[in-house]
Amino acid sequence: AKAEGRGTHRFYESGMGAEVRGRRLMEHELRTAVARGEMSLVYQPQLAVATGTIVGFEALLRWNRPAHGFVSPALFIPVAEETGTILQIGDWVLRTACAEAAGWRVPLRVAVNVSAVQLHAPGFADSVEAVLAETGIDPRRLELEVTETALIRDITRALAALTRLKQLGVKIAMDDFGTGYSSLSNLRAFPFDRIKIDGSFVQSVDANQQASAIVRAILELGRGLDLAILAEGVETKAELGFLGAELCDEVQGYLLGRPAPIETFAAATRGEAAD
Ligand code: C2E
Ligand code: CA
Ligand code: CA
Ligand code: CA
Repeated sequence: AKAEGRGTHRFYESGMGAEVRGRRLMEHELRTAVARGEMSLVYQPQLAVATGTIVGFEALLRWNRPAHGFVSPALFIPVAEETGTILQIGDWVLRTACAEAAGWRVPLRVAVNVSAVQLHAPGFADSVEAVLAETGIDPRRLELEVTETALIRDITRALAALTRLKQLGVKIAMDDFGTGYSSLSNLRAFPFDRIKIDGSFVQSVDANQQASAIVRAILELGRGLDLAILAEGVETKAELGFLGAELCDEVQGYLLGRPAPIETFAAATRGEAAD
């Protein structure tokens, strides 16, 4: 029976494409990744342009997958979303980021990415409230980053969840602005505090006329709607110079700091001068 079982298994596997098999295996491994301690967070600094100081950090998820090494979240988050595992992973991200931030001596902001699946799950606002209570972090230090695509799934439900979170004092940022749908009506309908200009517009903003026109327009829009603006993906001094001249509020990108374990930024979180 044992031999037969193995044969059956082999037959079943060879009947699937390699891609499907790889995907199933990833789905399977993702289910236990948190419990096995394979997930971790790195942090990327967010700086105020006017002062050049760090005002917050975005938490970014890293998966150290057995036999693969670090897998990009761009590859595994869509898989976790399809299977629903993102709910468990997202909860871990939120709890870990808030717990870590609660331990910083300087009360900097911590920004956490929220998937559409989380945002639309019943009880999402409750779970955030529970994490806030558990970790004791000031809700005003927590910023949730949501994409436009995440909102349009079920506008009523997304709006209800975000409105409740706002009432708790949590900040909301629109991530990847300019890359999704119906940006302008969403900006009006939802209680955003900040717009994050997608890196694709920021890159070569100093050299490309279309990119610079778009970034200028978003900055103007932000001023008109009283929203703070953060430019993502800043890689060069020329890009930073342009954003400073155009009075962009905050910047984030490789030029200012790559995502790294929080210990890397101990000078900022402890309020000591860097050595
Ligand atoms: P995102 O939220 O737009 O995050 C910014 C991505 O750009 C990060 O990639 C970051 O490492 C990268 N980046 C930062 N500065 C620069 C730069 O100057 N140039 C370039 N080319 N890239 C830069 P990462 O960490 O690979 O994350 C990719 C995406 O995965 C994120 O895009 C976000 O959508 C998703 N993600 C990451 N962590 C989480 C999480 O905890 N939960 C959820 N739901 N999604 C996450
Ligand atoms: Ca983000
Ligand atoms: Ca982004
Ligand atoms: Ca993105």
